[in-house]
Amino acid sequence: MSEPTPSNDTIRAAVAAQLPRLTEELIALARIPSIAAEGFPPEPLHEAHDRVVALLHDAGVPEVGDLPVEGTVAPVILARVPGPEGAPTVLIYGHYDVVPPGDLSLWRYPPFEPYEADGAVHGRGASDCKSNIVAIAAALRALDGRPPVGLTLVLEGHEEFGSPFDHYPPSNPDVFACDAMIIADMGSVRPGVPTLTVALRGSVDVAVEVRTLAGDKHSGQFGGAAPDARLALVHVLASLHDVNGDVVVEGLTRTPWTGATYTDDEFRDLAEVLPGQPLLGTGSIGERIWSGPAITVTSFDAPPSASPINAVASSARATLNLRVHPEQDAVEARAALVGHLERQRPFGIEVTVTPGEAGNGVAVPMGGPGVATALAALESAWGSEPVLMAAGGSVPIVMSLHEAVPRADLLLLGAEDGFSNIHAPNERVLLDEVERTAVAIAVFLRDFASGGGSPLLPSGA
Ligand SMILES: [Zn+2]
Repeated sequence: MSEPTPSNDTIRAAVAAQLPRLTEELIALARIPSIAAEGFPPEPLHEAHDRVVALLHDAGVPEVGDLPVEGTVAPVILARVPGPEGAPTVLIYGHYDVVPPGDLSLWRYPPFEPYEADGAVHGRGASDCKSNIVAIAAALRALDGRPPVGLTLVLEGHEEFGSPFDHYPPSNPDVFACDAMIIADMGSVRPGVPTLTVALRGSVDVAVEVRTLAGDKHSGQFGGAAPDARLALVHVLASLHDVNGDVVVEGLTRTPWTGATYTDDEFRDLAEVLPGQPLLGTGSIGERIWSGPAITVTSFDAPPSASPINAVASSARATLNLRVHPEQDAVEARAALVGHLERQRPFGIEVTVTPGEAGNGVAVPMGGPGVATALAALESAWGSEPVLMAAGGSVPIVMSLHEAVPRADLLLLGAEDGFSNIHAPNERVLLDEVERTAVAIAVFLRDFASGGGSPLLPSGA
């Protein structure tokens, strides 16, 4: 077989030569506080949008426009590079909005004054997901703006806060038609380890409520016999886990995790577990956080401990978030949790359960040509064999794009390594990871043209 063109070395050199400029672009983009959450001004979102559009034009993308999606606070950029006749199409997704910085006192530097130090760019959004946007542009430039595939770029500005765009792709599948989609909003399990994310857990919300008295009653006069709703609810919640902290709700899928995962020490570090505290559950960390269920109490009604009230509670309510095995139907998992809660009768007291949202996870089918091509591209970029991992959080847009184009290979990768502090104070991205992501994307686009996917049928065929 003849060496593909451009060669890996040519691509690597072309990306390496762009590193100073790529760093500058990332810093400029990360300086913009493009936050889509309520209460934040929309101007920075538009500024970030315009900068990304300019970046794409500069990288040689001929068609750059906005997709009219109702209700989004920032436009969804839809850009296309037409491919050669008969070539497969690749879609790349990313987002230019960021999460708010949160408690500023926890940051070692101002979140929106990004800077380069120690081989990294530090700043909110530097990793999630602006690093991947500059990597995409660098990959395109390394291919002289002419990838040998058709390319569709979808870069939105409302990802972090329940965008209406999440529901758009399944009803407009033609817009997203492709043979493979790269979700460039992930990264290496740890720096330097090329990683393909192959599973995301689903997510379910449920509320549980106990009502026992017409009104709160004095704990001195009535405590001891009056049914305490809050106490009953505590018993209900205590029924969800065994003494080790494993979820005991019947009907929830749990399987061993066979890919890469964090060591216990790495996980303690990432989760900032205090010294002497145990980790919950048994089995590998991967099985606990990716291929097993997790239930978290996300709210619980009670007076704050600073101002207690001596009264027997007449009612109490809590909400739960259940993370669901990537391959289990979220509605089925929700039914299992609801059933478990409804069967609880603490002291003989009935509970009321209200099912909330249920979103499926995703397990990437491993047989597609895109997966093999992506693994080879990651190996070329990082120089070592890639590992597979999962992500604990469900990403609605990923599920939705997958639903719109189920036959396209789903490839989750990027420059956001597991230690990037995304959604946390002191976010940073390693420039090494950005550079390698750009190389991996370029190599993938080059190779998917020859090995991957059958040519797209014209729409309507
Ligand atoms: Zn992201």
